Amino acid sequence: MNTLDLRQFQDQVAELLLRHRSLLDVLSKCQQANAAVHRSVVKSITECGCVEVHAAKQPYSADMTIEDAKQTLASHMDGQLCENCVEAVGAELGKNLFYLASLCNLLDMDLQQIVIDESRKCSTLGYFNMS
Ligand SMILES: [Zn+2]
Repeated sequence: MNTLDLRQFQDQVAELLLRHRSLLDVLSKCQQANAAVHRSVVKSITECGCVEVHAAKQPYSADMTIEDAKQTLASHMDGQLCENCVEAVGAELGKNLFYLASLCNLLDMDLQQIVIDESRKCSTLGYFNMS
């Protein structure tokens, strides 16, 4: 798969999904995979140390322009994922996508169409509706 083709990925997942055919199984696996993504990011902070978190209240005000907000609002994050952590977090994100595709299969939903619809919404709504 060289190009982004979520339909092909979704079909591939459908063929592999023998063990977790139950909706309840897939729902709980989705949640577990999501928690594993978060855990791998936390480990990059607490075990590896390539990323640090320094958080404080965001200095947001309603009269800020988009440019002001981009300059002022913080990610609360210093550093970047190292090669090992990119691999670990990427693997967990991959599992997360696997179960997301499984959920779409069970519900007869088209993941690619969902991404297209969401992308359209992002370009229509713009920045401040992304909270
Ligand atoms: Zn790291």
